[in-house]
Amino acid sequence: MNGADGLMLVGPCCHSRRFIFANIRTLIMSIKCGDKPGEGRYVCKKCGKSITLKSKDEAIYPCPLCQFCEYRQG
Ligand SMILES: [Zn+2]
Repeated sequence: MNGADGLMLVGPCCHSRRFIFANIRTLIMSIKCGDKPGEGRYVCKKCGKSITLKSKDEAIYPCPLCQFCEYRQG
């Protein structure tokens, strides 16, 4: 039983590490027009305007204020 518990600890640990790496990748990479990063809020890198995507099939569109095409995760 103890051995099985030890193995159980490895699972969640590796999972959360992968999760953190995925988030860092998203933060570093900028999101550009036409990308489909999924549901969520995205902030224009130029003027700070945030847009919201409501579905994973919705593509990033040019900023409604300044027409800039690069966003970061909001
Ligand atoms: Zn903008």
